[in-house]
Amino acid sequence: MSSESRRPLVAVAALGGTISMVPGDGEDHAVPRLTAADLLGELGENLEMDVHAETLAGISSASMDFATLVKTLDWAARAVAEGAEGVVVVQGTDTLEETAYFFELTWAFEAPIVITGAMRNPSLPSADGPANLLAALTVAADPRSRGRGSLVAFNDDVHAGRWVRKAHSSHVEAFSSNPAGPLALVSEGLVHYFHPVAARPPALSLVDADFSGLVPIVESGVEDTGELLETLIKAGVKGVVLAANGGGHVSAGTADVIERALPGLPIVVAGRTGAGPTFRGTYGFRGSESDLIAMGVTMAGWLDPRKSRLLLHTLLATGASRERVEAEFRLRGDLT
Ligand code: GLU
Repeated sequence: MSSESRRPLVAVAALGGTISMVPGDGEDHAVPRLTAADLLGELGENLEMDVHAETLAGISSASMDFATLVKTLDWAARAVAEGAEGVVVVQGTDTLEETAYFFELTWAFEAPIVITGAMRNPSLPSADGPANLLAALTVAADPRSRGRGSLVAFNDDVHAGRWVRKAHSSHVEAFSSNPAGPLALVSEGLVHYFHPVAARPPALSLVDADFSGLVPIVESGVEDTGELLETLIKAGVKGVVLAANGGGHVSAGTADVIERALPGLPIVVAGRTGAGPTFRGTYGFRGSESDLIAMGVTMAGWLDPRKSRLLLHTLLATGASRERVEAEFRLRGDLT
């Protein structure tokens, strides 16, 4: 960097997770303790950027909720409005993919928002938190990250929030973007993007959003009678995502329950395999994709059940109609 160039400003929000967890004196198990300032302190004083850091929460990511996500989104938006070139969000890895997808849906800025965490807490040998945080800061400060939306920097890979999933419970290479693959590699302090910036669907507005109410995922499988789905519908849900078999198939019993619930209830059918799109017109048996589409369900396309739940809940929180739900899933779930 030339002596005249201004150092980039990156805003860092810490929300908790393994990266911030250590056992207390005489304790065996790690719990959230470290602040954003503690995490940055581990990186030393040689960062090639200015950093504004705040601790917004100290939770395990299993307790992540929409209130915390919206608070973090608002904080990040303010940071960018006040001059930050990029934002880093540090949290637990267990639900990190959902945070990344929520920001992918709602982040309206050219500046990147980069999420990271750690698999090994700071008290363990070869803890990965500092390297992941440094990579996330590097990605957030890089002008070539602009326009790429929500990114995950982890184990030197950079993943798109659109595709990333936690794919291992303990490896430091815990995240995967299969089948799309990572967007970039961080090496020797540089971000190597593999592709130019791609167009992204417009950000969803959260004005007057109300996230109250349940939008569960119901998984299909052996002995799927439809009773669980019917019980949930009777209990009063806002919408349902089915983690359906294969390309979007449910049992005949569940198909009967879906037919009775439509058109009143938004029902999204996603695939439970973890890869591959839902189908549109291959099979015709009771509960097949074409049977369910004829009833009026929305197919999730390439979106997995977790991402589908984030999208459906966010759309319903903003009062989206069934037609809008269908249009948004076609836009965000299909590659076309
Ligand atoms: N393995 C998780 C993590 O990496 C546990 C804690 C959490 O998700 O908050 O952070």
